[in-house]
Formats: sequence, structure tokens, C-alpha cells
Amino acid sequence: MENYQDLLMKQRTFFRSGQTKDVQFRIDTLNRLKDLIQKHEQSILDAVKQDLNKSELEAKRAEVGLVLAEINFTLENLESWAETKEVPTAASHEGAKSFIKPEPYGAALVIAPWNYPFQLAVSPLVGAIAGGNTAVLKPSELTPKTSAILSTIFNDNFPEEYLSVVEGEVETSTALLKEDFDYIFFTGSTGVGKIVAEAAAKHLTPMTLELGGKSPTIVHKDANLDEAAQRIARGKFANAGQTCVAPDYLLVHSSVKETLLEKLIDVITATYGDNVVQNPNFGHVVSERHFDRLAGFLNNGTIAAGGKSDRSQLIIEPTILDSISWDDPIMQDEIFGPILPVITYDDQADIIDQIVRRPKPLALYLFSEDENFQDEILNRISFGGGAINDTISQMTSHYLPFGGVGASGMGAYHGKASFDTFSHYKSILKR
Ligand code: NAD
Repeated sequence: MENYQDLLMKQRTFFRSGQTKDVQFRIDTLNRLKDLIQKHEQSILDAVKQDLNKSELEAKRAEVGLVLAEINFTLENLESWAETKEVPTAASHEGAKSFIKPEPYGAALVIAPWNYPFQLAVSPLVGAIAGGNTAVLKPSELTPKTSAILSTIFNDNFPEEYLSVVEGEVETSTALLKEDFDYIFFTGSTGVGKIVAEAAAKHLTPMTLELGGKSPTIVHKDANLDEAAQRIARGKFANAGQTCVAPDYLLVHSSVKETLLEKLIDVITATYGDNVVQNPNFGHVVSERHFDRLAGFLNNGTIAAGGKSDRSQLIIEPTILDSISWDDPIMQDEIFGPILPVITYDDQADIIDQIVRRPKPLALYLFSEDENFQDEILNRISFGGGAINDTISQMTSHYLPFGGVGASGMGAYHGKASFDTFSHYKSILKR
């Protein structure tokens, strides 16, 4: 197993030189990174196309566009975020001054997943750079083309003692996690999140865990069904369902189920055509292992739409499975693919009870005009974040910190939350 002690020592030495603490240095780095992303945009789009068959349109928006927007927002605000802020002083300390000074942690380790292999690798780095840290990035081995372009962008343009991409498989992650980094930012599955947390505990390293889970989508009897169908289909089937905040399963009131399913099928056909297996723009499942796991769910319940697949191309059609029960295999773990199981309900209290008995989801979506029901869901169910009458769009606002709770993660990022995540806030009382 490779040893990354030397790399960490180099980053520590560079960090101690104080260069990254200079706010102008961070701004210059972010501007440089922005230029590099723009320069390499076509290579990034080609890489995610080869890795996941992500269409250019989707990749432009969800991989490159979101990262550039994050950099721009950070550049607009960084000077003010990085300022020392004076706060009131308690009466018991009369005559003193109190202030809070953000400081970088030091050398950060960022471990990224494969589903948005560019965005989920670079977005945390924007926070690490903004906070004034050095960083080592380990991209996912399941998207090798994107991993290679990340290596080109960072390793050819920044010194390794500041920003370094280390490509590799699980052993690489394991070796990196043995080192005493000052911060760990991990995005991936809940299972691996526990391994990361154990490794971090050995050095008491602070961390953010951006994990997954089963995100419920509730469609109540008073919902606008046209909007619900559009927004659920978009959130679920983009990237072939391989989005951490995708609606995992549908809970629909029995009185509107038939109509909602008809509308969902119409939207799927209008968006992806009649024969999705032949559609060159529909996303691929990332690997044969993931394909086999997903294909195993296709005999759960009854198929209301889709159901065809092609292992040689790693394609599974957008599929809706009706008549699912909470005990079916597809309801046990996060699906992470283009299959939407449907459970019907009559009693609102029952679905709330069912959701709160399970691990806390990363996201929850509710389609309903009833404000009492909206309040009840928000008050009684704990989840990372979500949307009312929409799906997934909560994660693209700079003003909404993005993260999970319980089994779906700890900590948050995006916008100022990214700066906060990669900063320690030092409280000072001055007499
Ligand atoms: P994963 O946990 O398998 O892998 C993530 C990273 O961890 C990869 O770089 C991988 O090399 C590394 N890794 C894998 N096994 C490891 C081990 N035993 N020890 C150390 N490192 C290891 O996750 P994935 O399959 O790449 O991504 C899918 C999961 O990530 C889903 O659960 C999804 O919900 C979640 N996810 C969450 C977010 C979020 O922002 N909350 C975003 C995207 C994906």
C-alpha cells in the first residue's frame, strides 16, 4: 500500500508558510481554477459522457455549470466571509472586546463519488480553497476518464504541496485515511461513511460526511398532478436515477394514484421517447455490479412503466413499479437507479410513522397545497433538506446549506456553508 505521509508533510509545510491564509491568494486560486475549468470544458464533458453517458446538456449544467456558479458566488463574497467579526461582549466582561476569527484547518482530504464525478469532486475543493486550506482530492475509480481530467487540471497547474489529485481505488482511499489530515470531506455511501468516520476518530479529525439514503416523495390528494409528474420525473430519471437527492420512492394518496402514474408515463415518453434503450442521451448505470443489483429489483411489485434493460449497454429504462410494500427488497436500501417504486396510502399519519421508523433521509419531497400537512411533515420528520412541490432543486441554491442528518450524513456545504465547513471559528476575548 502506498504511503501518503510525504505528501501530507509537504502540504503541512506549505500551509505553515502562511500563503493560503492570504485572502488574495485564495481569490487568485479560484480565478485560476475557473479559467482552467473553462479551458478544459469540452474535455470534462467528453469524460463524463464516456464514464456515464451523461448528455452534454446535462453535464454542462450539473457538472461544469454548478461548479462555476459556486466559484463565482464564492469570489463575490469571500472577502466579507473571511473578515474577523466583532460580537457583543457579556456584561460580566465589561471593558473587554469580543471577536470571532475564521481560520483554515490546514491540510484537507476530499474523497469523491462517481455519480457527479466532476461537480462532487471540485465543489468541496472550492470550499477548501476559500477557507485557506491545502487539499488532496481522491476521485472515484469508477469514473476513470473524469478522474484523469481532474488530475490534469490540478496536478499540471498547481503545486502538489497546495492542491493534489491522487487517483486510485479503495486501497488509495484507505492509505490516505491512515494519515493525520486536518479535515476530511467525504461524499459517498453510508456504509463507507462509517469507515471514514472510524478512520477520522483515530486522529480526532473533524469531518463532513455527505451520504445517501432513501428519500421519500409524497404526493397528496390535493397536489397539482401535472407539476408533480414533471418534477418527479426530472428529479428521478436525470443521470439514470444516480443522484443522491433523487426521489427514491413514491408515496401517493390512493385517490390520485392512477392519474399520477398516467401523467408520469406521459412525461417519461415525452422526455425520453418510446424506446429508451435506443436513446443515445439516456444515462448509463455506472458498472455491471450496479446494473445487476438494480435489475434484481425489476420483479418487485408490478411494472407500470418501462422495465426493459440492456446489460451490454448498462441501460435500464425509466421504470415505475406499482403495488410495492414496505417489506419488498427494493424498499430496504437506497436504489440509486432509474426505478421508482410506488406505495399507496390513505392515512397521512401512517406514512409519517413509517418514514420516522427508518434511517433519516437525505431529502424529502412533498407535493401538496395543504399548509397544515406541509407543517406536519416538516415538524415531525427529520431529514437533510428537501422541497415542497419540487424535487432536487434545494441543492442548487447558494443560500441553502446542503447536507444530511443521521445516516444521511453530518455537516453541510454550498455557498457560505462551504466556507464555514472548511473554517474553524476562533473566539477571542480581548482585555
Ligand atoms: P462509495 O461510498 O462506494 O465511494 C465513494 C468514495 O469512497 C470513492 O472515492 C471510493 O473510492 C471510496 N471508497 C469506497 N470504498 C471505500 C472503503 N472501503 N474505504 C475507503 N474509501 C472507500 O460511494 P459511490 O458508490 O461512489 O457513490 C454513491 C453513494 O454516494 C450513494 O449512496 C449516494 O447517495 C451517495 N452520494 C451522496 C451525495 C451527497 O452529497 N450527500 C452525493 C453523491 C452521492
